[in-house]
Amino acid sequence: MTWTRREFTKLGAMGTAAMAVPGAFAQAEQRVGFAVIGLGVIADHFMRGARQSQHCRITALVSGHRDKAERIAAEYGVPKESIYSYEEFDRIRDNKAVQAVYVALPNSMHAEYTIRAAKAGKHVFCEKPMAVSSAECRQMIDACKAANVKLMIAYRMQYEPLTLKCIDLVKTGQIGTVGAFESQFGFNIQPGVWRTKKALAGGGSVFDVGIYSLQAARLFTGEEPVEFKAYAGTVHKDDPRFAEMEESIEWTMKFPSGVVASCASSYGAQMEGFMRVHGVNGMIEMGPTFGYDGTTMKGRGKGGVRWDEVNSEKDPKQFEREADHFAECVLNNREPKTPGEEGLRDLTYVEKIYEAAGIKL
Ligand code: NAD
Repeated sequence: MTWTRREFTKLGAMGTAAMAVPGAFAQAEQRVGFAVIGLGVIADHFMRGARQSQHCRITALVSGHRDKAERIAAEYGVPKESIYSYEEFDRIRDNKAVQAVYVALPNSMHAEYTIRAAKAGKHVFCEKPMAVSSAECRQMIDACKAANVKLMIAYRMQYEPLTLKCIDLVKTGQIGTVGAFESQFGFNIQPGVWRTKKALAGGGSVFDVGIYSLQAARLFTGEEPVEFKAYAGTVHKDDPRFAEMEESIEWTMKFPSGVVASCASSYGAQMEGFMRVHGVNGMIEMGPTFGYDGTTMKGRGKGGVRWDEVNSEKDPKQFEREADHFAECVLNNREPKTPGEEGLRDLTYVEKIYEAAGIKL
């Protein structure tokens, strides 16, 4: 077989592209190697997402349970020498196969491991909520800046196509000027889990699930809230699950345009995640939403147009998308779409919500 001059040029260009953007063509070493810190529920989704991603691979594990870590290491091809306990985590500095960490620990541990990872020269992809206070968020941002490493918060809905489509419909005026917003998210929590311990969770359900409604209100209005009112309540008063935090909380946020968002979250009541944005000429509703797949939207807009759509992609696609975005930022030295500053904004508002409810964090 002989190649024409044009085919040679095309092949050369393809080779250069493959080197510049490791992906389908990429060798394992060209992918961003992640150390996963904390091997719980969300870490499992993330690792499955990373496995089917273009730019990521799992190269180390950090866990307090050696047996579990060895089992997962075997599944993901992680060498035994790349399993670390929390105590020996700082040795990760010397592991050349690790460029980034994924922090999947209880909320109060995010700041410590982000800062330790930055000091070890590793980029940080951290689960939401970014931390348990805005002060901690600032320390994390400063540590990552000082170490010249990327910091991204795992706000997976900001990478979910149907959510992005709905935001775009609102932004481009398809339902007219936005007048009001509503959202809820909650579930009936198991007893004894770390989420019910203030020292590990930071506070109640706003840190965990209410933050989705808070984010949605900001994204769908395109504004930052300026006033907060909130009520917290506990129905199951002697329930040990609510010894350290409220059972449910409802809050309203006012935006500079005058839009008022009405939100709620709970650890006692089943509240399938939903959000609804009302405009002068129509309405868009997403629900169920905030889950790992099956995001659904319905609505009607200007000129009688109707929408009715489900994202049929399956879990762990959302995790693959956010992991690939972060890896591309690392590979191409770009700022992530959801940097530490985005997490800081939310924690500032979470603090204001609890202050408005008269709850000291
Ligand atoms: P999980 O309880 O399933 O996992 C937590 C992991 O941390 C476990 O492996 C546990 O062994 C480890 N750990 C280390 N020290 C611990 C301690 N002192 N107490 C308890 N566990 C300890 O929790 P999860 O649901 O995976 O949540 C982890 C983080 O991920 C949280 O910050 C949570 O908000 C976030 N999260 C994000 C999403 C999302 O969709 N983005 C969903 C769920 C959880």
